[in-house]
Amino acid sequence: MRIFSFKTKFSDIIKLMNRINITPTQIKDTLYTQILPEVFKPARYTGGEIGSKIPKEDTEVRFAFTFPDTYEVGMSHMGLKIMYCLLNEMQGVTCERAFAPWEDMAKLMRQYNIPLYGLESFTPLINFDFVGFSIQYEMCITNVLYMLDLAGIPFRSSERNDFDYPLIIAGGPCTVNPEPFCDIFDIIIIGEGEVVTPKLIEIYKEYKGRTKEEYLKAIMNIEGVYIPSFYSVDENNSRTALVEGAPLEIKRTYIPDMNEVYYPEDTLVPFIETVHDRVMIEIMRGCPRGCRFCQAGFIYRPVRQKRLDLLKKQIDDQLTSSGYEEISLSSLSTTDYMACTDAISYIMEEYDNDKVSISLPSLRIDSFSLGLVDSIQKGRTIPLTFAPEAGSQRMRDIINKNVTEEDILSTMRQAFENGFTKIKLYFMMGLPYETDEDVLAIAELMQKIVDIYFELKLRPKDLSLSISVACFVPKPHTPFEFFAQDSKEEFDRKQRLLIENVNRKVRLTYHDSSLSVLEAAFAKGGRNLNDVIITAYEKGCYFDSWGDYYKEDMWKEAFSAHGLDFAVLAKREYDYEEVTPWDFVDIGVSKKFLVREAKKAEQQKTTKNCYEACSDCGINKDGGKCNFEI
Ligand code: SF4
Repeated sequence: MRIFSFKTKFSDIIKLMNRINITPTQIKDTLYTQILPEVFKPARYTGGEIGSKIPKEDTEVRFAFTFPDTYEVGMSHMGLKIMYCLLNEMQGVTCERAFAPWEDMAKLMRQYNIPLYGLESFTPLINFDFVGFSIQYEMCITNVLYMLDLAGIPFRSSERNDFDYPLIIAGGPCTVNPEPFCDIFDIIIIGEGEVVTPKLIEIYKEYKGRTKEEYLKAIMNIEGVYIPSFYSVDENNSRTALVEGAPLEIKRTYIPDMNEVYYPEDTLVPFIETVHDRVMIEIMRGCPRGCRFCQAGFIYRPVRQKRLDLLKKQIDDQLTSSGYEEISLSSLSTTDYMACTDAISYIMEEYDNDKVSISLPSLRIDSFSLGLVDSIQKGRTIPLTFAPEAGSQRMRDIINKNVTEEDILSTMRQAFENGFTKIKLYFMMGLPYETDEDVLAIAELMQKIVDIYFELKLRPKDLSLSISVACFVPKPHTPFEFFAQDSKEEFDRKQRLLIENVNRKVRLTYHDSSLSVLEAAFAKGGRNLNDVIITAYEKGCYFDSWGDYYKEDMWKEAFSAHGLDFAVLAKREYDYEEVTPWDFVDIGVSKKFLVREAKKAEQQKTTKNCYEACSDCGINKDGGKCNFEI
């Protein structure tokens, strides 16, 4: 029997249900008898996978690690697996998982009054102490609201008084500019969650039974913790602390020694295929290269490498416990890991009989990288992917790619000679100072690569050459944070220019320009976007990063309802001296360095990578230099 009408707001339904106290057993029974037989991929919603944890009987604190995308995407995220195991190893703490249900599931959950629940115990999220969202990309933010809505939790921190509701936390790379979504969260973690989250939980144990404000005050000075409700911000991004002692600058927190970073001994093995079905081991954090468009290259500084003996142990633990037949050595620039060759040799020698294959993401365009891929091929045809990012040398110097055309062409020649015929290259368009000649240079470069293939007299039908051209999005805490983005019309024109000029043998894919413009508006935006996000969700926007689900018109209406236009926000430039919405976040790299790099971009001057020379980015506040020995 339905208790509520279709017109009842779902959050009201849940509040009422909370009163009637739906139990995990009732949720589980309804799922198995009524809902799961009707949905696509029911294993997304059942938990119980190999490596999943049974909730502790003596649980004092319940934490839900919540990923605002599908199960398949979330279960491929290494951070989830790390945090899940780390928190479950804490005394008295149970960590469960929740993902964004696909719309068929959400519809039935609404129909049967089932709130969003933790996969381990079927407990409604509303009954947890913490619900922690991982914000990996800007456009997942409406899915946070979608999940809160399904859980019956009010959207804004200000609507969740005291401990009647869980504390809603955000972490992940997008929190380096938390302002566009800060009203939703009680606590925002800036930096590496492994450091902060256990501290938040330990202090919470002491503050249970007291007020939410008392608890938030107790944690507000922990490095990496930002409590948005403790500040007011004016239209010039000037900030005032509303609570005595709240810091005006929030420092990103990170673990200086990679060998001290927690890594689980076992891993979760899903029942269904996910985006990455393999063991993923992090070999290094940070990147030494300093490409000027790349946010990760700045917000994860400095480079920190894992010792080889520790890496070998983690490889053994993970492969043995999971039974996976593929392992990925992951980092932002895998071939910059100084023990990369040794790590590969170890896996090949130790796991050759088990037929374990190795995948190497993020390769540089050079013969060393090619040699590594060649050594792991074992008779398979591995597709090669490289990212020159720009077609002309002028543009590659502006972005500090530090790769020459000679490097690219000689690597391609060597690849063809070694039997690699499936090659994908990644480029961007709309970069600062870009001209039409730079766009056409992508087509010219591809023509040279096609010519090399035919010069070598290889079988034409074997060649599979593709390029993916993304629209540049200026990101906070990079030297390009000051720049405007191209308009949608300009992106569309440049895309047509490229399509008309690229060799027909090259398969070209490109990004949705409108979605990229919206992404830039959120990357560079301020507090006024909180209302827009809520309006957009209420109009029906969610799963925005899933191509067909992006509803441009609804987003335009949502911005317009608040007197804003995302096309205008994306084109916003910042002067070097101007205060940006994210200036209060100290990621470690100094603004002085970012300005220096932005000026060098204008002069088409490059900066050496950190291994070759230190360019004094400010990460070592005492002026000390990084030590890259492992
Ligand atoms: S201090 Fe120097 S070596 Fe270290 S990350 Fe910054 S630029 Fe690179």
